[in-house]
Amino acid sequence: MKKTAITTKILIAMGLGLICGSLINTFAAEIDFIQTYFVNGLFHIIGAAFVNALKMLVVPLVTFSLICGVCGIGDIKILGRVGFKAFGLYLFTTALAISVALTIAIIIAPGADFESAATAIEFTPKAAPPLTDVFINIIPSNPINAFAEGNMLQIIFFVIVFAIALLISGEIGKPIIDLATRLNEVMMHVVTIVMNFAPIGVFFLMAKTFAEQGLGLILPMISYFAVVVICLLLHGLGTLSLLLKIFARLSPIIFLGKMRSAHIFAFSTASSNATIPVTLQVVEQRLGVNNSTAAFTIPLGATINMDGTAIMQGVATIFIANVYGIDLGLVEYITVIGMAILASIGTAGVPGVGLIMLAMVFNQVGLPVEGIGLILGVDRLLDMIRTTVNITGDAVVTCIVARGENTLDDAIFADPNAGVITDITHPE
Ligand code: ASP
Repeated sequence: MKKTAITTKILIAMGLGLICGSLINTFAAEIDFIQTYFVNGLFHIIGAAFVNALKMLVVPLVTFSLICGVCGIGDIKILGRVGFKAFGLYLFTTALAISVALTIAIIIAPGADFESAATAIEFTPKAAPPLTDVFINIIPSNPINAFAEGNMLQIIFFVIVFAIALLISGEIGKPIIDLATRLNEVMMHVVTIVMNFAPIGVFFLMAKTFAEQGLGLILPMISYFAVVVICLLLHGLGTLSLLLKIFARLSPIIFLGKMRSAHIFAFSTASSNATIPVTLQVVEQRLGVNNSTAAFTIPLGATINMDGTAIMQGVATIFIANVYGIDLGLVEYITVIGMAILASIGTAGVPGVGLIMLAMVFNQVGLPVEGIGLILGVDRLLDMIRTTVNITGDAVVTCIVARGENTLDDAIFADPNAGVITDITHPE
């Protein structure tokens, strides 16, 4: 039997799930039996179980991979440089994303002729962490707690310090570095095992989402929805491709083709965090970035870099201001840009977190937070698309940093078959 790349199977499953969900949404939205036993039963259980399986990989994979990465670099100065470049580029791309989104939204002015704000769904924002706490809390007071909670910034901090200590320990540290290298290798195989269940998981995730999200929700919000999507496509396919071409001297076409499996996961889970294992696999094994760079920049990016989310925030700000007839000036726009960047640093890439960040932005510029209730209905679908853009940004910055550090293997990047995951029941 011919081996099929798992990505092709996942892509087919995604399409079938989308069709199945949309059919239910159109023809069976009122049928209790289907809603109870399928949408909220089977679809929900298998979809959520699959997302759990992905999340299960994140902490061990990031830990072992980052130990290998830091020890692979071996020089604290280089590590600092990689961190500095990645951090700077993440902030830069996010600022670029939201500035473009604000400009386009100001020109198109979505929401200016919106009928009534009375259709808003009630929205009570969860409290976002105060910014000072975000910085203090990068240092975990209890690393075990950080691992148990999956707090990515704290884990990154502890693992880097631990790996540096391993290097300093010399001979004593060597067996542990060896062990981490082996464990990292094993974890990559665990990723492969989970990926083999992805066609099933993705099918049910898509079916559930599209059974719940019909066109009916989008139509009244079409101006907002369309502007966000236009800006996301412009940034994801335009700006980021341009940066990749100019600074990493890589073909955006090959890049986007190879990113497909990571894109599918980001789209169907709406979580950059849950997608980390797949993004890491793609960036290292398909795009050719050395583990010493990617192990650091990918988990960091999943947490602090959210270009797509920033775009949604920019457009949402203009939309709500238009709906409520509130005039915003240059100071408010600059505040929005600053707040969106800062908010993305402190919040993890999980579904729906963009709305919590949006509440922070609204508070800062004096827009009514209840306005968020208006865009709540279409947020899940936009969340899926913006998460895809978020992880694209992580991968582009990783490639640019790797190019500068000479840790990018052009032969792997150019090889169409490099790192393709095939069915484990038909190993090579
Ligand atoms: N779901 C997004 C992510 O994980 C964050 C958001 O925009 O809500 O990257």
